Amino acid sequence: MAFGWIDEQAELRRRAGLVRTLRPRSAESPLLDLASNDYLGLARHPEVTEGAERAARTWGGGATGSRLVTGTTELHAELEQALADYCGFEAALVFSSGYAANLAAVTALAPHGSLIVSDAGNHASLIDGCRLARGTTQVVAHSDPEAVGKTLYTHTGEAIVVSDTVFSVDGDAAPLAEYAEVCRERGAGLVVDDAHGLGVLGDGGRGAPHAAGLAGADDVVVTVTLSKSLGSQGGAVLGPARVIQHLVNTARTFIFDTGLAPASAGAALAALRLLRREPERAARARAVARELHTRLTAAGLEAVRPDAAVVSVRAPSPEEAVQWAAECRAAGLAVGCFRPPSVPDSISRLRLTARADLSEAEIERAVRVIGETRP
Ligand code: PMP
Repeated sequence: MAFGWIDEQAELRRRAGLVRTLRPRSAESPLLDLASNDYLGLARHPEVTEGAERAARTWGGGATGSRLVTGTTELHAELEQALADYCGFEAALVFSSGYAANLAAVTALAPHGSLIVSDAGNHASLIDGCRLARGTTQVVAHSDPEAVGKTLYTHTGEAIVVSDTVFSVDGDAAPLAEYAEVCRERGAGLVVDDAHGLGVLGDGGRGAPHAAGLAGADDVVVTVTLSKSLGSQGGAVLGPARVIQHLVNTARTFIFDTGLAPASAGAALAALRLLRREPERAARARAVARELHTRLTAAGLEAVRPDAAVVSVRAPSPEEAVQWAAECRAAGLAVGCFRPPSVPDSISRLRLTARADLSEAEIERAVRVIGETRP
């Protein structure tokens, strides 16, 4: 029977307790949200939704074509300029998702014969970029600049080092300054995914590369998503203008994809304006994360010390993680549940989002519920 093997796989998944299902949320959900990536609480901010509405009214429901045909509006150009200016890079290029931006950056910058050094904790989209690239990938130990340096020394041609800035599972930050140093010693490029850093780290949320003094460097390329702190949808690559021009001419997820929807561009632009005007939101997200961690630890839970706005709490097993998250939900709290195969080390955890707009009472309630429902 065609596709018979997928039933066997489904059965294995069921037995391992690893079945995933979709649960549509309602617009009026009563749950306290510590599960989304809306770090700054901007997805429903009136200025952000108004930005989306205005853009849709002016430019339409879709971009109407790929970026090199009809899909580049003045709004896309304005967003690219605003992103580059805010994060301190020469130029930016917007994609329909952060996933597409990562595929573009890695594939376009790792030609045949090149070496890609990839951190073992990298996000799936960077991993897929490595798989699609013509260069050869070497995976190195997580957050280990020495291992990166050693691997770079095994190769004499073109090379890039690829890493998340903040790892999405545990919320730990990569040693960016050290990575930049070993890259410079070998003339390698550094490509970092700042999906969880933009809006949270650096002055006013200008991102982890900005915080590490790497903004505007001619050997550093940064990818971001518009779908987390900026409360919109889409992605971007930031870097030297010559790199961005190279992507315009060669990146397949740019050339063959319809441009970002105008509503998403309008929402992201409005969010960037808010970040400029209210830079304290970034520091607040970090403070909420630290407070969550302190309280969870005091309650005897095993939480990873957060470097940004993600707080990860260890669960004993995938089944218990699922059960724990379900009990939190029943008690009115939405938390993320990460388990194999979405975790690099087979350890299941609850993943909490430290949103900047959480009140003290909400933080207290969240920690109480997590503590009371622990396995
Ligand atoms: N990189 C990282 C580290 C992410 O966590 C995500 C989103 N889960 C992405 C890239 C993909 O971004 P997008 O959702 O915009 O495709």
